[in-house]
Amino acid sequence: MTAATAVARRVGVFGGAFDPPHWAHCSLAQTALEQLQLDILHILPTGHAWHKARVLSPAEHRVAMCRLAFGDLPEVRLDEREIHRQGPSYTADTLKELQNEYPQATLFLVLGADQLLAFKTWVRWEEVLALATLAVANRATNIGADAPLDQAQEADLSGVDLPFVRLNMPLKNISATAVRARVSEARSRSGALEVLVPERVAGYISQHSLYQPPT
Ligand code: ATP
Repeated sequence: MTAATAVARRVGVFGGAFDPPHWAHCSLAQTALEQLQLDILHILPTGHAWHKARVLSPAEHRVAMCRLAFGDLPEVRLDEREIHRQGPSYTADTLKELQNEYPQATLFLVLGADQLLAFKTWVRWEEVLALATLAVANRATNIGADAPLDQAQEADLSGVDLPFVRLNMPLKNISATAVRARVSEARSRSGALEVLVPERVAGYISQHSLYQPPT
């Protein structure tokens, strides 16, 4: 155990495919750090994401882009454990490991509204709930590839019968789906990508020709 893990009292856990990481992910991480007064925030790119129908980009690219997107935030730790885990990766297992690493700490699981609404489909969700406090940022109702950036209609969370704390993040209607769609459709509009992802992530996507349509 390092000195940092020994003293951390408020530990954030933010998982995602991050394919690619975008501005809403950065805002969510920043908001969680500030509002929850986290000592440390683990960013966990998923390994084999059991709930995503699509095949994800190789982990090495997603990890590299996470480094570029989150690297400047204080107290962030890029945590690759789910990528290295054999077989399907479950949040309950990750939280158990983190509880052992930070025996004194309160764990906060950071997520967006879409994931809260689907929470009871998660494998061993009751265990997740017992291990961590859910900290949720709202999301627009339409999060598809064609969703307008300025859409202001929030998902309705009033019917959710789970305990959670709200993260007060201004609505950012960005999704990785929309980023991938924009890259694959519009080579000529490359500059427009920085509205959706940090400049360094846009540079990485272009350098490695990610999300191009099949030729
Ligand atoms: P995709 O479009 O490929 O499904 P995504 O944009 O939802 O991807 P993920 O990496 O799956 O990105 O998301 C990781 C976490 O970040 C999830 O908890 C998700 O709800 C949250 N999140 C992503 N985008 C937003 C957003 N615009 N506002 C709030 N939360 C978000």
